[in-house]
Amino acid sequence: MQVSDFEHFRDVLLERRQNLTEWLNSASMAHTGDAEKVHRLLEQIKEALDRVKSATYGECKVCHEGVELHRLEVQPVKQICLCCISEEEQAELEEDLYLASKIHRALLPQTTPKIEGFEVEVRSLAASNIGGDYYDFLPDTDSQTFRVIIADAMGHGLPAGLLMSNLQGAMRILSSDINEPGPLIARLNQWLCRNVPVTKFVSLVCLDIEKTSAKETRVTYTNAGHCQPVLIRKDGSVERLEVTGGVLGVDEEFTYDEQRVSLFSGDILVLYTDGIIEAENAQGELYGEDRLVEFIRAQQKDSFQNVVDGLLNSVFEFSGTSQAADDLTVLMLHKK
Ligand SMILES: [Zn+2]
Repeated sequence: MQVSDFEHFRDVLLERRQNLTEWLNSASMAHTGDAEKVHRLLEQIKEALDRVKSATYGECKVCHEGVELHRLEVQPVKQICLCCISEEEQAELEEDLYLASKIHRALLPQTTPKIEGFEVEVRSLAASNIGGDYYDFLPDTDSQTFRVIIADAMGHGLPAGLLMSNLQGAMRILSSDINEPGPLIARLNQWLCRNVPVTKFVSLVCLDIEKTSAKETRVTYTNAGHCQPVLIRKDGSVERLEVTGGVLGVDEEFTYDEQRVSLFSGDILVLYTDGIIEAENAQGELYGEDRLVEFIRAQQKDSFQNVVDGLLNSVFEFSGTSQAADDLTVLMLHKK
């Protein structure tokens, strides 16, 4: 390994450490159990930085040959080369490569679907040409359930956009094989940790909308460190779809729980990315979740399309610009 390689991986490790520390101090970290893993990762990063300093970084612990650079690019704390990994890990890597080739062929959707019993509206604006937000609708083949996804990569521009297109492809492939959101997101996270050089992490909500009767719709969801979606009931009361796991791309052993909630006629479910609530005005105040909730409650009786457009206008009026500073997505479902 050359001096420039050591410098490169030191930067990768430092960026990872900074993002992990930021996430550790953020509100979405409230999910218990993950903090310990993150501390362990931070310890591994510290050890790797020590190896960079002593110029032993990138040396395989078993055979003392170099660990492949592309492998370190994805998993910079690894200390074993591909020749020395177990047969089990080898087989898993081969499966991942097959998956990656399928993902390149997957196409991205451009239309808002019709979900029976719902009005659906999405607005998504990118701060630059390529956005780091992503959303998708994946109907089940028997059309009994509808899967809805919203995700946000830290940062924006090309790296975030590339990460998102990878993630969207992986989600589409895995989604056809895995029925429950919890195991699906766990597998997606594993895939991301193993295959994509992630220094920027991804938060995501996956919800399965399952029609139980004309009046009631059951929703099963997994929230991987994402802004909590807001459920505004017909009577104006508010519930939140809590965080059930950590952000994606940190540790392949993260697990993801599921929660359930029922939607009834007149309820509005709002999924959004942090570009909405972190829009800032000239005084440095944030738009915030309270303003979002108040706006929708006040406009609840208006036509659904007006509510969604009105919300975006309200965010822009607040921040005093018509240009999104961060990628910004809002996806709203109205139970008819
Ligand atoms: Zn080796």
